[in-house]
Amino acid sequence: RRFHDFSLENDLMHAIADQGFEYCSPIQAQSLPHALQGKDVVGKAQTGTGKTAAFLTAIIDDLLKHALTEERYAGEARALIIAPTRELVMQIADDAKGLCKHTDLQIHTLVGGMDYNKQQNRLHNTLVDILVATPGRLLDFCRNKDVYLDQLEVMVIDEADRMLDMGFIPQVRQIVRQTPQRGERQTLFFSATFTDEVHRLVEQWTENPVTIVI
Ligand code: AMP
Repeated sequence: RRFHDFSLENDLMHAIADQGFEYCSPIQAQSLPHALQGKDVVGKAQTGTGKTAAFLTAIIDDLLKHALTEERYAGEARALIIAPTRELVMQIADDAKGLCKHTDLQIHTLVGGMDYNKQQNRLHNTLVDILVATPGRLLDFCRNKDVYLDQLEVMVIDEADRMLDMGFIPQVRQIVRQTPQRGERQTLFFSATFTDEVHRLVEQWTENPVTIVI
């Protein structure tokens, strides 16, 4: 399958072509038909499979197709990607910037170990279309009401198994509680391994998901 086979928004399609992507990787070919329809997707996929471009393509296409008409508030996120480490967050945000380069979608990152006030100032002054964050810092921002997740349209949980191993799930749980209920938001959930604990998270956070194993 090729990216051209999906009716992606032109500005996104151009950026995909700029990256040199033509053919979908297996995770992209299998997840995009469902994710683009707004369904929840659970993917068992490792790094290197192209899962980042898979969820970013779905998110960006959705945000571009459903331009918001109501007034929006600073700090109110439309799409959220939660990942376990600062490096992964930066990598995802870089990929997102590449795929959004022909759009005016705003991408923000929140990670621990970086200046809180700088991140806060940026959020106060602009809209947040795509927020990429590690759990602890994101929760701080939610608690301080510097970020709002109640209007969230899409949530991505990336590397759920690593977040479990690192003890982040209690924080992620508190974050998920501030988003619209499952079914009212789209959830895309990725993990390289599926233990019983990971399955329990899938049950709690997704609704009628399509499961894809790579
Ligand atoms: P990821 O698994 O998301 O870490 O992606 C692994 C690498 O594959 C990244 O460097 C992407 O830029 C690249 N990539 C993702 N999708 C494609 C594609 N459809 N064709 C070629 N390269 C891709």
